[in-house]
Amino acid sequence: MDKVRTRFAPSPTGFMHIGNLRTGLYAYLFAKKNGGDFVLRIEDTDQARYVDGAVQVIYNTLKTAGIDYDEGPDKDKGFGPYIQSERKSLYLKYAMELVERGGAYYCFCDKERLDSLADSNGVRKYDKHCLRLSKAEIEDRLKSGQSYVIRQNIPAEGEGSYVDMVYGKVTVPYHDMEDCILIKSDGMPTYNFANVVDDHLMQISHVIRGNEYLSSTPQYNLLYDSFGWERPTYMHLAPIMKDETRKLSKRYGDANFEDFIQKGYLPEAIVNYIALLGWCPKDNREKMTMSEMIEAFDVDGISISSSIFDEVKMKWLNGEYIKELSDEKFYELSLPYFKKGISSKYDYRKIAPLLKTRVDILSDVEHKTDFLAQFGEYDKNIFITKRMPDLAIANASVSAALIALKNLDDWSVDSIRDCLSACAEAHGIKNGHMVSNVRVAITGTEVTPGGAFEMADILGKEETIKRLEFSKSLLEK
Ligand code: GLU
Repeated sequence: MDKVRTRFAPSPTGFMHIGNLRTGLYAYLFAKKNGGDFVLRIEDTDQARYVDGAVQVIYNTLKTAGIDYDEGPDKDKGFGPYIQSERKSLYLKYAMELVERGGAYYCFCDKERLDSLADSNGVRKYDKHCLRLSKAEIEDRLKSGQSYVIRQNIPAEGEGSYVDMVYGKVTVPYHDMEDCILIKSDGMPTYNFANVVDDHLMQISHVIRGNEYLSSTPQYNLLYDSFGWERPTYMHLAPIMKDETRKLSKRYGDANFEDFIQKGYLPEAIVNYIALLGWCPKDNREKMTMSEMIEAFDVDGISISSSIFDEVKMKWLNGEYIKELSDEKFYELSLPYFKKGISSKYDYRKIAPLLKTRVDILSDVEHKTDFLAQFGEYDKNIFITKRMPDLAIANASVSAALIALKNLDDWSVDSIRDCLSACAEAHGIKNGHMVSNVRVAITGTEVTPGGAFEMADILGKEETIKRLEFSKSLLEK
């Protein structure tokens, strides 16, 4: 086999949704698995859909996701330009060659005539009207500056077949295809033409893309054949769905990669999760690094049916990645989510290691540290547990701890632990009850990121005493 070369060809029409990113990821994994090159090409010929800044989003996303392209607009290895709008003159040249070869023709039909071709359902199929024009007539019209498009000349009969790596044999009758536009009246190519010219010139061996192109591929193959170019091998991918019936859609802002990053997902976890949406490694492993995915990537594991995006599962996987971060790294990454109003008052370095095993996404840090900023009226029944069904014990624990801690000068996790344990013993209270009651009393909540000693240490002596006093009076009411 010649060198494997795959490409990712996003259109700069806004943010990158994870369905797109998965296509890019598979193309990357396949290239790397086979010792090949992975090319980035920007498909911006549809100027009406162009969104400012979207090209930058593509670069940033790939960089953040760790999908490293070998060639692209900023890494020209001799196949550039890699941005289609910069290749405009080249498409016209090939389209004209195709006209010479009979694979395409000039069409001068205006909108009115095209509209008149619609059937009762409003469906229009071009009737090859301009194919009948004589050479001389075409020359005249071109000379007089009449607006034109170039259309593909699809045979009226027969069918086109190819073998897709995922879907197997695909056959489409030519009758079902239209003589689609290859060059628009503004001189820009359509996707239908540009993808073929570029994939050929960039020596792409495997075209990996969404299955919305599965049935138009025979049409593209006709173009390869007309030019006498070798067809690439195709791998089409089933879509990622939002639920049973709806596709994830860029248009509706679904599942945007950058949004997930903002919410505090780690890029490695997102990439790992989306790799599994439509592909399963032989050993059913779920958590994999990029190099493990490259190693394991295998077409046999790619599914022809669509997969449903499950954020709960992605969250779980993200939590697994977070647990593996060093304390320092977790601190750095999660600090921006630690509420601004309290960041000057409390030492996040002390809190972060406690949170690391208790959050699934970094933004969980925000509500998991609510207890620092908010403390006030709460339901005293939160003291009650199966093991401690009696509020009198809570009351006794809090009163005793208040006195003991007030007298404690050296304020540290260890000294607070010793102090509470001595206090429990002196008052005949079980140590477990003591620490659990103090923890609830100083946070006003049942679920906290650490035990009583850590919470008291983080809050500091003054705040701890203030809170114990509040809780004591609450329990005495
Ligand atoms: N620009 C096309 C898209 O975003 C690329 C399709 C392809 O990979 O050929 O859908």
